[in-house]
Amino acid sequence: MMDRNRYARVVVGIPVDNIFDYLIPEPLLERLKVGMRVLVPFGKRRLLGYVIGIADKAEVTDIKEVREVLDDEPILPENLLKLTRWMANYYFYSWGMAIKTSLPSRLNSPVHKARKRKVSETDKYERLHLPERSDIALNKFQFDALKRIKEGLKNGGFNTFLLHGIAGSGKTEVYMQAIANLGEKGAIVLVPEISLTPRFVMRFRKRFGRRVAVFHSGLSEKERFDEWRRIHKGESEIVIGVRSAVFAPFRKVSLIIIDEEQDPSYKQEEGLRFNARDVAIMRGKIEGANVILGSSTPSVESFYNARKGRYHYLSLPERIDRRPFPTISLIDISKEKKKIISDRLKEGISDRLERGEKVLLLINRRGYSPFILCRECGYSPGCPDCSITLTYHKVTNKESVNPVLKCHYCNYKTAPPTICPDCGGINIGYIGVGTERAEEEITKSYPEASILRIDRDTTRRKTTFYRVSRETFQEEGITNQDTDIILGTQIIAKGNDFPSVTLAGAVWADGGLHIPDFRSGERTFQLMTQLAEKVGTGEIPGELIIQTHNPDHYSLRYIKANDYYGFYKEEISLRKELRYPPFYRIIRIIIKCDNEEGLVKKIPELKGIIKASDTKDIEILGPAPAHIYKLKGMYRWHLILKGKSHVSLHNYASRLNETIKERKFPGIRIDIDVDPIRMV
Ligand code: ADP
Ligand code: ZN
Repeated sequence: MMDRNRYARVVVGIPVDNIFDYLIPEPLLERLKVGMRVLVPFGKRRLLGYVIGIADKAEVTDIKEVREVLDDEPILPENLLKLTRWMANYYFYSWGMAIKTSLPSRLNSPVHKARKRKVSETDKYERLHLPERSDIALNKFQFDALKRIKEGLKNGGFNTFLLHGIAGSGKTEVYMQAIANLGEKGAIVLVPEISLTPRFVMRFRKRFGRRVAVFHSGLSEKERFDEWRRIHKGESEIVIGVRSAVFAPFRKVSLIIIDEEQDPSYKQEEGLRFNARDVAIMRGKIEGANVILGSSTPSVESFYNARKGRYHYLSLPERIDRRPFPTISLIDISKEKKKIISDRLKEGISDRLERGEKVLLLINRRGYSPFILCRECGYSPGCPDCSITLTYHKVTNKESVNPVLKCHYCNYKTAPPTICPDCGGINIGYIGVGTERAEEEITKSYPEASILRIDRDTTRRKTTFYRVSRETFQEEGITNQDTDIILGTQIIAKGNDFPSVTLAGAVWADGGLHIPDFRSGERTFQLMTQLAEKVGTGEIPGELIIQTHNPDHYSLRYIKANDYYGFYKEEISLRKELRYPPFYRIIRIIIKCDNEEGLVKKIPELKGIIKASDTKDIEILGPAPAHIYKLKGMYRWHLILKGKSHVSLHNYASRLNETIKERKFPGIRIDIDVDPIRMV
């Protein structure tokens, strides 16, 4: 007799690579479909699984049954199954974990069922009244850019565009008109930070009404699930959000836009270490969609791809209002005798305040000072769990006025000593400048001015800045709040506009340059450009003053000259010479353990494994202690693998990973970071 049994092929949300087969019991045969969630027995447990296929035959004999089907219709369309499968393979993660990462958390909980919901009357009503506003007339650069995007849309198929233009050059208008031109809807707009979503959502809602859905961590679990469901049901055709929006459950996406594509926030730095920009491009490829990468300072890799013809290059070379880029000057602060704010910057601030204009100051660290130091013996307190100095916070928040030493990596806190615990000395120095100290300094110098500090301590919860900016934008600009000086960490340089700011100052531009990372020059260039974009957006021309110890650094020289292409040329030749991306691909393997001795003992064995392996076409740096040697109680060594071909690099990393796993280094954990953007 023929085997009429059917089997569900299931992956589960744990770090196990296998696909498991389960018999589909008779009563579930009709209902169960690929892309649904099921409950399955797993050892002694019951786990939530995702059905990735249905088969006539099982690959094993000892077969168990699917216990329950959780959905009425598939929650994972075919395209997202493909995408998550690619991610799992590319980023060395299990498929089940990749699917789990792609879904709103409600759907990863077995008690929650995504049953069909009736469309309410109000929903229906709103859908009938879409307030679509007409497009505005484009300038010639926007027109040309849109024309080429439209060609791409008309031909169908996968295309990637790089839309290069500074803030105010009209990129967002091009995005919106590209969406308005979609035949089949289904558009995803990614922004790097939650605080940038209000600006986009407001503009897109004005034009596209309720069809715009929003995805980010500032929403409650329920809100996120509701937005997910609106897209899944086809009620909403445009989604705006951070990383996770790349997984929006459209059955077919037509256009994906990634604004500020170079932003490191697109990279998830724990768990599945994916870069949403790269996943978006892969999604475009899988679904034959068009992808637009927008940027004022494209990443070196993307610009290189555009130069090589892999991406279509579109340029918006001037601001819509034709206002000039600000003048930029570099101040060598080694000549300023320990002053936090140079005389030149002080004068600039005074001038602006007298004229009723506004000032923006970037200080790239929060807290009062990055470390404290006993001036007698040189002792500096560090975190017991991380090899990082503790940052001195004079005032932690509005409720507590006690100073505290804090680890910015693991949040360890302790009271600052007034007497050196090593030598008993009483001369404690506060070294370096954080936002708190800058605020104190500025308040002293400009007692009349109203000052707004924006960093993670003033916006305690991650979402507060989102709220602040949402309200602000509803009032059309932060300046309505009577602020004279806005100071803060790099969050102030991103996206949001502060009209009537005519002077920006980078209090110390070198923080990023000292990080041992081949992208440190690029990051500094990007950050300073973003800061420059924030000034002089009104009637009065702007000025940017950059304080540095390295006025001759090439990044800063090209910033001063406002020369992206000059910077690119110098950077790309460095990358070539040093064999870094885009010429070489990188996979970083981090080996970590809470037992230092145990870890160090294993290093010779690891070296042996590498030595015995076939390393043709692969260059290996390390194993060496990571720059941040200890992090959250784990000691860390790392290996940097470089290869010209991604395939051979990936294969090598995969073999190495397997071998290390087979040797069962006890207590040792391995993190694989593909295309890392942080090397510390
Ligand atoms: P970007 O996204 O590059 O920062 P935007 O699209 O936000 O630029 O444009 C900057 C400002 O100029 C916005 O207020 C926008 O509404 C306006 N704008 C954009 N394109 C045009 C145009 N063709 N004509 C008039 N105003 C425009
Ligand atoms: Zn720590």
